[in-house]
Amino acid sequence: MAAPTTDRKENGYIDNYYTHFIHEDTQYPTLAGAEEADVCVVGGGLAGLNTALGLVERGKTVALCEAHRIGWGASGRNAGFVAKGYAAGEQNLAKKLGLEKAQALVSLTKNARKLIKKRIAAYNIDCGPVKDGVLTVSYRDRAEELKKTIDQANDNFGLGFEFWPRDKVRRHCKTEKYFDGIFSPNDYQFNPLEYLRGLAKTVTAKGGRIFENSAAVKITKDGAGWVVHTAGGQVKAKDIVLSCAIYMDGLDRRIENAAFPVQTYMMTTKPVDPQVLKDAIDTPHCIYDTRFCSDYYRLLPGSRLMWGGRVGLWAHPENIAQTMLGDIYNVYPQLKGHLEPEFSWSGKLCYAPHKMPQIGKIEEGYWYNTGYGGHGLCPTTAGSEVVAAAIAEGDRTYEQFAPFGISYAGGKLGRYAAQMVYWWWKARDLLDV
Ligand SMILES: Cc1cc2nc3c(=O)[nH]c(=O)nc-3n(C[C@H](O)[C@H](O)[C@H](O)COP(=O)(O)OP(=O)(O)OC[C@H]3O[C@@H](n4cnc5c(N)ncnc54)[C@H](O)[C@@H]3O)c2cc1C
Repeated sequence: MAAPTTDRKENGYIDNYYTHFIHEDTQYPTLAGAEEADVCVVGGGLAGLNTALGLVERGKTVALCEAHRIGWGASGRNAGFVAKGYAAGEQNLAKKLGLEKAQALVSLTKNARKLIKKRIAAYNIDCGPVKDGVLTVSYRDRAEELKKTIDQANDNFGLGFEFWPRDKVRRHCKTEKYFDGIFSPNDYQFNPLEYLRGLAKTVTAKGGRIFENSAAVKITKDGAGWVVHTAGGQVKAKDIVLSCAIYMDGLDRRIENAAFPVQTYMMTTKPVDPQVLKDAIDTPHCIYDTRFCSDYYRLLPGSRLMWGGRVGLWAHPENIAQTMLGDIYNVYPQLKGHLEPEFSWSGKLCYAPHKMPQIGKIEEGYWYNTGYGGHGLCPTTAGSEVVAAAIAEGDRTYEQFAPFGISYAGGKLGRYAAQMVYWWWKARDLLDV
């Protein structure tokens, strides 16, 4: 029987591949007593930490409160694919906003992809190996459709995609399940938790204060500013930024009710005979497929395999490891009998119905920066830069996100509706031959 995925390890994280092999477990204090800062950030995931870093880089004083540990949420559980663009998709953005506005939004994430590498180098963050290249493989025999998608993405958004014919795809991924592919040479992979912890270290080195195990329970108005209350203290600040994603737990229902949770699952194996792995997956690149409910995977140092997939709102496979193994063997039957699960876990994605980040302010000084869904590493960097620039410099780029606000996502009823959509997607994956 697999261990429940919400188990708290002694260090306060859930047990997963990243938290098990953490490099240096720097702990931050719990908030006690009264603090003051220019800005109080609530939530210590990628959105919160990137905002805090953007602010201290711009000379602001910052206090960040995280309910658990830095990266405890989706940010310390993800697959580590660093890819530009948004969950909503470029073409959908162009349809909704017009090409020019869509291009402006997409270029924010292209810049973010560069900024992440720049920060890794500038702040000496040990989150490698950083390996270039993400390959999207098609489950369907539709080369012409794929080529058209690539042309549109390259012509309209300069994404630099390459077409990989099926013989090339199958040289790297030795399975007949896949046909042609889209290769993105500028996207990459790394260890997301180590990256995040590197950001946290940099924030504190630049004078920011981070408090772990410090859940914000209430926010009150204080003159022209705000006070964030935790069980043991308060932070008074002119501006506050809520980046709690789907783990918010009642702090602000206006933001919480504008998104719904989507569970997704991951597993890593124990070290595998390198030749056995090479006879199936012979590529250093990240892989995911074109189905609605896609598999996503990559090889890890030490000849391990990381595999993720499936989505649902409440579905909880009793044994994630066995479910993931089944999915792996469906694609690579030659791996049967060679894989032993080491860690398996789930994480909750925070999705708005429009599948775009939710960035803006509810009233003066009361900001939200959330809703990054399954596509968070580049977009959280982009969105947080926009918020930091708005607060520190009065920059108005954040207004580009105004069409994707925090309108009500239907509460519980909305979640049922979303679950129906996921079942429908799954059915389409099965029927779409
Ligand atoms: C299994 C999985 C695989 C993924 N794979 C990828 C991938 O390969 N590439 C990619 O780009 N994205 C991926 N994602 C998505 C990505 O991880 C998210 O989009 C991103 O981490 C969102 O960051 P966040 O800071 O908004 O949320 P989170 O990381 O969830 O952070 C929110 C934080 O707020 C804290 N919090 C909540 N309420 C309070 C409160 N009241 N007081 C204080 N703190 C509070 C929580 O404890 C949490 O730490 C994946 C996600 C999952 C779950």
